[in-house]
Amino acid sequence: MLGPPGAGKGTQALRLREDLRLPYIPAGDMLREAVSEGTDLGRLAKEHMEEGNLVPDDVVIGAILERCEAADCRDGFVLDGFPRTIPQAEALESALDDLGRKVTAVLLVEAPDEVVVKRISGRRICKNGHVYHLETDPPTRPDRCDHDDLPLTQREDDRPEKVRRRLQVYHDQTTPLIEYYDERGLLRRFDGTRDPDEVQDHIRATLSTIRLEERL
Ligand code: AMP
Repeated sequence: MLGPPGAGKGTQALRLREDLRLPYIPAGDMLREAVSEGTDLGRLAKEHMEEGNLVPDDVVIGAILERCEAADCRDGFVLDGFPRTIPQAEALESALDDLGRKVTAVLLVEAPDEVVVKRISGRRICKNGHVYHLETDPPTRPDRCDHDDLPLTQREDDRPEKVRRRLQVYHDQTTPLIEYYDERGLLRRFDGTRDPDEVQDHIRATLSTIRLEERL
């Protein structure tokens, strides 16, 4: 899954995980967990994340690739928020190559900056990654997740000044991946401003077509 923060990648990735029944590897959630557990990875990532900057490639690549190579990923996996730089994409390609595997599709969920800023300012999440919006998708009870009753909080990096920094980082460092994957014929685009159900339908239809094509 590729796209700016707040375009709906995480929401769609969660739905995709349920559809495909494949392991879900959310780079941002893994890093946040490492920070809250105070692991070596977390210590190396913390400061960068708080500033809305990317965690250095040499720190992220090893951690994510190790997860992708775990036994439960043998039949495939959904990667969310990785790769985010060209070196990360190259490292992924080379690791998969070594295993005789490849990326099936890169799903780009797009939304303009002004939409993203508005969405993120009202975003609240629970520890398990369920996402709400105070105006457009509020929880039934204020500050409690409908799914697991956990408290809802605002991510530190969802505050407005951090969001602007994350968008700048996305435009500078991540958008080159659009061309990278387009050249390889892997890129599929989705309109993240649409209703999440519509985006999901579009993703489902696209993946079915890819599956059919692969069988031919
Ligand atoms: P996310 O939850 O995907 O918005 O990610 C939150 C933060 O985690 C980002 O702003 C980065 O600091 C860090 N992060 C997540 N994925 C990556 C990645 N692939 N490379 C570097 N940093 C990342």
